[in-house]
Amino acid sequence: MNLIDKIVSLTKRRGFVFVSSEIYGGLQASYDFGPLGVELKNNIKSFWWKKVVTEHPEVYPIDTAIILHPKVWEASGHLANFTDDLVECKKCHQRFKKDEINDTRCPVCSGELTPPRKFRTMFETYLGPVQGSENLVYLRPETAQGIFINFKNVYQTQRARIPFGIAQIGKSFRNEITVGNFIFRLREFEQMELEYFVKPEQADEFFEKWKKERMDWYIKMGFDSKHLRFREHSHEELAHYSKATVDIEYKFPWGWKEIEGIANRGDFDLKTHSKFSGEDLSFLDSQTGEKYIPYVIEPSAGLERIFLALLCEHYHEFPKGRSKQSSKSQPEVFLSLPWFLSPVKAAVLPLVKDAKLIKISQDIFKDLLKCWVVVYDEKGSIGRRYRRQDEIGTPYCLTVDFDTLKDNSVTIRDYKTMEQERVKIPEIKNYLEKKFILV
Ligand code: ATP
Repeated sequence: MNLIDKIVSLTKRRGFVFVSSEIYGGLQASYDFGPLGVELKNNIKSFWWKKVVTEHPEVYPIDTAIILHPKVWEASGHLANFTDDLVECKKCHQRFKKDEINDTRCPVCSGELTPPRKFRTMFETYLGPVQGSENLVYLRPETAQGIFINFKNVYQTQRARIPFGIAQIGKSFRNEITVGNFIFRLREFEQMELEYFVKPEQADEFFEKWKKERMDWYIKMGFDSKHLRFREHSHEELAHYSKATVDIEYKFPWGWKEIEGIANRGDFDLKTHSKFSGEDLSFLDSQTGEKYIPYVIEPSAGLERIFLALLCEHYHEFPKGRSKQSSKSQPEVFLSLPWFLSPVKAAVLPLVKDAKLIKISQDIFKDLLKCWVVVYDEKGSIGRRYRRQDEIGTPYCLTVDFDTLKDNSVTIRDYKTMEQERVKIPEIKNYLEKKFILV
């Protein structure tokens, strides 16, 4: 099995990701996130929020609608430009995104391909009961436009001064021609986007600053720097709004691929929305009297791609077992996620199914639940239970054994070092709090 197959198997087995509508045969490139997947997703989002919003008092959060006034997409250039070149095989009728195939023939059956035609990748729907062109609206293909159209609302209500940012996490929709590689390319996905407004002459400086901050964010999540790189867009590749763009790429098992784009969008968006709406979206500095349209630096990251990259980065297999308790009949899986991303922070395990040990374990479990996502597990041998926690990256396993009855202590096992320490029950919370160091 290759790494991606192993990850697909782990995520299904342990309830991170399910094929969507599976009982009806599944829906192409559509996935549901199960209990552990939701926790991991939330933890990635929280870490992004902490580093981009909370630790930046000049960055304001927003949560805008998915369906916006259709004029937004006319002004932003999406109606005209958010298209892919689609080619179709004349023989097997499969359709491809032109820039994803290297050949002039069909990659499946070598048939002749049609000339490319433009395919708009925004999903369409209708507002209200009448399905006429006057009611046509779109599901947003990026969260950014909701931010631009609220630029004035935010800076005026928050009395913001340049430089400042507006950040949003939310679903985006793209009717991609080709999908694949598990959750890498989806038609419905979540973006974490920041629009950071700056004086035009400071745009290059802030572009470099955000490049650095965003790369550091990945390193803090335990990515090996050798598996990440910046890739600058060539002039021909730049989007219609962009003055400069770099992608942060991750070395996936199938090659280097984008997980985040960082763009200097210039003043394109605020200018075009000013023009189309008639609303003046320039910034007036009340202290200096200066009035201008700021430039915007945009780091835009895809949640599911980062989720997948994290699993690729932190998945380890030990064919001969990593612990004394290993059965060695099967490889042991270990997910080395940093503690703040781990879906479960601790597991409470009575050594055996003994009424006294179960009672103590349950009490500890209930107490810890007030602070963290914790699980209780009494099923199977202790070795097997450790392995179940290792494969989902649970940082600490707390074992209640017969010595606990004498010394009121539990054994706490660290997932990375596998070292074990005896800790008094009233000290457990303190002990864990000290281990959970914020980065
Ligand atoms: P690609 O070239 O791979 O199609 P893009 O350049 O169109 O991506 P952006 O418009 O820069 O992507 O979007 C920002 C981020 O949103 C991307 O870096 C990626 O992480 C995420 N993203 C974009 N399209 C998808 C998709 N179809 N499925 C999952 N994530 C996506």
